[in-house]
Amino acid sequence: MQKPVRVRFAPSPTGALHIGGVRTALYNYLLAKKTGGTFILRIEDTDQTRFVPGAEEYIMEALNWLGISPEEGIFEGGPYGPYRQSDRKPMYREFAEQLVKKGYAYYSFDTAEELDTLRKQYEAEGKTFKYDTSTRLLLNNSLTQTESVVNKHLAEGSYVIRIKLPVDEQIHFTDLIREDVTYSTHDLDDKVMLKGDGMPTYHLANVVDDYHMKITHVIRGEEWLPSTPLHIYLYRFLGWEESMPVFAHLPLILRPDGKGKLSKRDGAKFGIPVFPLNFVNPNNIEDKALGFREWGFEPDAVLNFLALLGWHPSDEQEIFSLDQLVASFDLSRVSKSGARFDFDKARWFNQQYIMSMPNSELAIKMKPYVDTANFEETTGLKYLEGVAALMKERVEFVNEFPVKGYYFFKAPDYKLMMDNEGKDFEKKVLKNWDAARNELFVRLIEKTESVNEYNAVNLQQTVELFINETGLKFGDVLPLMRLALSGTMKGPGVFEMMELIGKDYVKPRFIAFFGFCNSFSLNN
Ligand code: GLU
Repeated sequence: MQKPVRVRFAPSPTGALHIGGVRTALYNYLLAKKTGGTFILRIEDTDQTRFVPGAEEYIMEALNWLGISPEEGIFEGGPYGPYRQSDRKPMYREFAEQLVKKGYAYYSFDTAEELDTLRKQYEAEGKTFKYDTSTRLLLNNSLTQTESVVNKHLAEGSYVIRIKLPVDEQIHFTDLIREDVTYSTHDLDDKVMLKGDGMPTYHLANVVDDYHMKITHVIRGEEWLPSTPLHIYLYRFLGWEESMPVFAHLPLILRPDGKGKLSKRDGAKFGIPVFPLNFVNPNNIEDKALGFREWGFEPDAVLNFLALLGWHPSDEQEIFSLDQLVASFDLSRVSKSGARFDFDKARWFNQQYIMSMPNSELAIKMKPYVDTANFEETTGLKYLEGVAALMKERVEFVNEFPVKGYYFFKAPDYKLMMDNEGKDFEKKVLKNWDAARNELFVRLIEKTESVNEYNAVNLQQTVELFINETGLKFGDVLPLMRLALSGTMKGPGVFEMMELIGKDYVKPRFIAFFGFCNSFSLNN
């Protein structure tokens, strides 16, 4: 029988969670849900010097916002806890010592200064120093020192434990995405497993925890691929090879211009979010992150966008709910090559989600933004539903409703309109504006005002009649009505806008606007 799938997302709490990390979490989540398995969050904080306060909370908040919360984790608990590596510290030493006993690791006594000097010497000769199979017998460790020296260091506690990799051995493994991968120990180094302060390094803690947490699939970023041979040796040396997880290394996320890996700095550089939520590092307020959430993205749109950054379905479908992603997701359809972070595509996804959302939901979502915009006239949710219906195809983000559709909440700013549409306006409107025309529009205002039931259909009929009577064309009338109502040539249907804005507010706009036209044509 197949073992139940157990996957983990294992971030280090070193700051805001990069969007690449969120994608890793998502793919882990999708596999767990698809297979009826378990999604685990483990905090890898063995490097205490890089710990940033608030980072754990940030990670949890981001996953919760996106709706991909773990079932086991630092806040959820679970049968294989604790889930924070610093809380598991006492258990790692045993395995490091076990490796030494079996001859798969050794104590190393070189000081940081000594290793630094060596590094510099090598550099001066154009070479790179590695503590590895070729140098370890020349260095200060339990392979080269007498028993008494070794014992002295052990008694003082001045040592680290390093893995002892086999000399010149090829190591092969199959990665679910990268397929057959081969490394030679010649290119690897004898990495530290247990540090001087008794803390394990990432490598030891990661393998010990994956084993004890019964992880079946390690799905992580491509940057960890070179560490995988070392991890496989650890499974072998600790006698755990039978229960070794399978590996899947996700492709890089590339910068919007396709040149190189998307980094934290690219967010600032391109003026786009590359993090799920805003974040300010309390240790360094210059270290700030811009979030998708605060930008105005819907969590489902972000998930959809991220899912397709590196994974593609078997057909052309692009819009996926989380449930549909779970059903369709397959690690074998994750590509090897990097995926370009196309922010325009992210916006497009958001727009698609907005267009498909019920107006009642959009009304609730836009209300806080409308409230903070502090318009003079207050409106209820029913009215906001109307705004949603007319504007949802014209915005990319919910927070744009009161901006792009401000004229649903206050009279347009005709001066602003002149700035935006000045040329068109002068050409189309003022050129033909004269006293006779003004008189016609005064009649038009009266006509529309006296419509029985003030709705789009009736208003349209009335205006059509008026046009027939006066011999004007639609093009003489509608653009003016539109500008009067909204201050822009682009926007929803004129009669729909009139119906929603309502008679009491439409009339003063018409009067103000035609007054504006008059004053403008007199002045020029
Ligand atoms: N702590 C590592 C990270 O921050 C986890 C890598 C892994 O998943 O093994 O990305």
